[in-house]
Amino acid sequence: MRRHLLSIDDLRREDIERILRLAESFAEVAGREIKKVPTLRGRTVINLFYEASTRTSSSFGIAAKRLSADVENVTAQGSSVDKGESLKDTVQTLSAYDPAAIVFRSPHAGAAALVARWTSAAVINAGDGKHEHPTQALLDLYTLRRRAGPLEGRKVWIVGDVLHSRVARSNILAFGRMGCQVTVCGPPTLIPRGVESLGCEVRYSLDDLGEADVVYALRMQHERMKGSFVPSLREYAACYQIDGRRLGSHQLLMHPGPVNRGVELAAEVIDSPQALITQQVESGVVVRMAVLYDLLAGGPAGPGGGHGARLSGEHSGEAPEPQPA
Ligand code: ASP
Repeated sequence: MRRHLLSIDDLRREDIERILRLAESFAEVAGREIKKVPTLRGRTVINLFYEASTRTSSSFGIAAKRLSADVENVTAQGSSVDKGESLKDTVQTLSAYDPAAIVFRSPHAGAAALVARWTSAAVINAGDGKHEHPTQALLDLYTLRRRAGPLEGRKVWIVGDVLHSRVARSNILAFGRMGCQVTVCGPPTLIPRGVESLGCEVRYSLDDLGEADVVYALRMQHERMKGSFVPSLREYAACYQIDGRRLGSHQLLMHPGPVNRGVELAAEVIDSPQALITQQVESGVVVRMAVLYDLLAGGPAGPGGGHGARLSGEHSGEAPEPQPA
């Protein structure tokens, strides 16, 4: 029985299916003029971000508000973290407000699991260092399935800085769990040793990229690099950039954002109809609504009652009743 979402490893295939179904029902709400349901009325969601974010923080905020929760945003900068307060004291301070959930991002791998030990709120990992970013992986599955249909058997190539990417780790697990064949590709310096054990193949060149149904490009995570991993960005781009020549017309392109134009992706593919990048952002809201709903409202306690739900098969996964708030 789970109360948090810390890793894709926490989820069985049926849990992922349930969350994707919930997201579909929230997509219906997103299509209305009034995009709000009362599910989390009177409950508080705290977004605690210790690292930069555009998409994840804004979409969690919008998702929680569309579920009628009260949302408080706390960033390390400008908070008492600047005055030397520890993570544990910060979490305990915020927990005094009795939040239903803390959405947490940190530059440190494993930090979300620590936070989960210090609070009675549900903790959602919004990216912890190079470890995991589970809601990104869920929204990627959702986006791909909506565009391309069933995921089973799809060939997904994840290209770029796999070593420093939490998105790569979560996506290898998530695509694998849904029956996709995952290949990671990049220069040997940016592929973690033993990554095959997560359930993927490894390639060091784009020669066979044509076999992929989906090309998932990653940014160079300079903020986590100590030292230099490629001779130069120009050389890196020459060998690994996805451009109009390398992306076949039958292939779909994904990227978690932010894109460094001209490095991992050429402008012509970013703006091509094969790119799902904007759809990924759009999916972020409904998938994060689904995760919040699943953790906070879907369980035995139900809407309005206690810290109810769980991410591992506790309830039917029936669509929420989408009444206006
Ligand atoms: N936005 C994603 C993350 O936070 C990917 C990236 O930053 O490149 O991990």
